[in-house]
Amino acid sequence: MDNITGKVVVITGASSGIGEATAKRLAEKGAKLVLAARREERLKALAAEIVRKGGEAAYAVADVASAEDMRKTAGLALERYGRIDVLVNNAGIMPVSRLSELRVEDWDRMIDVNVKGVLHGIAAVLPAMREQRSGHVVNVSSVAGYVVSPTSAVYSATKFAVRAITDGLRQEESAASGIRATVVSPGITNTELLNTVTSPDVQAMASHVQGMGISPDRIADAIVYAIGQPDDASVNEIVIRPTAQT
Ligand code: NDP
Repeated sequence: MDNITGKVVVITGASSGIGEATAKRLAEKGAKLVLAARREERLKALAAEIVRKGGEAAYAVADVASAEDMRKTAGLALERYGRIDVLVNNAGIMPVSRLSELRVEDWDRMIDVNVKGVLHGIAAVLPAMREQRSGHVVNVSSVAGYVVSPTSAVYSATKFAVRAITDGLRQEESAASGIRATVVSPGITNTELLNTVTSPDVQAMASHVQGMGISPDRIADAIVYAIGQPDDASVNEIVIRPTAQT
């Protein structure tokens, strides 16, 4: 038995891609899940599939850009399961473009979802985790959280921020409250993320990277590894790229 069975895990962005793959893996290992995202039909179907296979899952329709939605999501976990062991802050969008395109609404939205969303998740679970004197926050950054490239300035800024927030949380809470903090940074992964691109220039280029990506299961495995370690080991950082990605 690993250190996952029976854990209560809240996952944002569970309606597709990495979040969905992580939910399935964790359910197989006996975690009790709260699945959060905006598309209710997807969440409902995933929760039903998990339950059909003998797992435990509830879902919350939530926009991570709303602190209130995230409070309600954490509330559902506490009401249903009585505690929160892990938050996987995975929801994210990637409407990348050159700064000169002035897609200011995309910039605002990326900051709202990728940065504020992570903070809203932390705000929602931290009081319970501090009270429990245990917990684990897994934040999904990106290879773009280490390097900037043309079109990625704002997206990279949000993902650099995710790394900063994760390490800040670790420094403040690990020793003091026993709360573990992990940042998982994927390279190109085959999900629906490119659907969030709005720039026609980037959409035209995106076809080149499609097909190079790895399965979201590979990233789910990394998240599951971090969660499954014994409580006295805090895996702080994992970067995972397709072998073919430079
Ligand atoms: P997907 O587009 O498949 O999944 C993104 C998830 O985030 C969906 O479940 C979506 O659900 C949810 N989401 C988006 N906006 C919101 C919101 N405002 N509130 C709540 N949920 C939201 O992409 P991935 O699985 O690839 O993305 C997961 C994470 O991985 C992201 O943080 C992304 O930046 C990161 N990442 C992905 C890489 C890749 O190549 N795919 C590479 C590096 C990092 P819904 O629309 O139902 O709300």
